[in-house]
Amino acid sequence: MEKTTVLYAGKAKQMFNTDDPDVLWVEYKDQATALNGKKKVQIAGKGELNRKISSLLFAELNAAGLPTHYLKTLDATTMLVKKCTMIPLEAVVRNFASGSFERKFQVAHLRPLVPAVHEFFYKSDALDDPFINDEQAIALGYADQATIQAIHTLSDQVNAYLKERFAQLGIDLVDFKLEFGRLSDGTLVLADELSPDNMRLVDQESGNSLDKDVFRKDQGPLTPVYAQVLERLQSVVSR
Ligand code: 5GP
Repeated sequence: MEKTTVLYAGKAKQMFNTDDPDVLWVEYKDQATALNGKKKVQIAGKGELNRKISSLLFAELNAAGLPTHYLKTLDATTMLVKKCTMIPLEAVVRNFASGSFERKFQVAHLRPLVPAVHEFFYKSDALDDPFINDEQAIALGYADQATIQAIHTLSDQVNAYLKERFAQLGIDLVDFKLEFGRLSDGTLVLADELSPDNMRLVDQESGNSLDKDVFRKDQGPLTPVYAQVLERLQSVVSR
């Protein structure tokens, strides 16, 4: 398999077309960004850690019957994924209050949220990824009713799986952001990435963040924290 033209050059990943029209080549970069790209730093080893964590979790979800775009790993920072047409929504699921939710409602940090809260944000750097509700997304043609419903269902299933997986490691899954796409046959799949760049993880014992909040809040070096998440995931293998 060879990569051909650049499809997309993002902040943390670069995607290429390949000689197979159904397969894309994804390279994870050593770049960390926050504040919609306003804070940007090179962090050696970050791309490899995010690729490894994403590969591991995507493979487990595939095995659990939850469809993702992941096909296989090529090297330290590269994976192959199924090509899909992306839905321009970020699906956020929250189990505990943090981040923008905590700021918006001025509630206690890590207050448990029951039921888990689902929020959509419209993917637009120019608009700073604004919140969008289900009807707004449908009326603006970003997804139809059935797709919105299917995303809610799959997001709940992914949340149930990951919450339990991290709980076994002494980690609370606070919140996370998912992106979905459709394969050429119409199947809805989880796409983008699954790493501490797009989820908040809190160590149950110490209360320390094990995710990109360490970078956002300047709490110290990022790679040892991501390496710890990977080690814990590898130390307890899913059943
Ligand atoms: P919040 O809305 O509280 O800032 O983010 C909620 C969750 O979604 C967090 O786990 C955060 O990391 C993730 N998230 C929200 N927006 C983005 C984004 O544009 N990129 C990435 N990688 N993650 C995001």
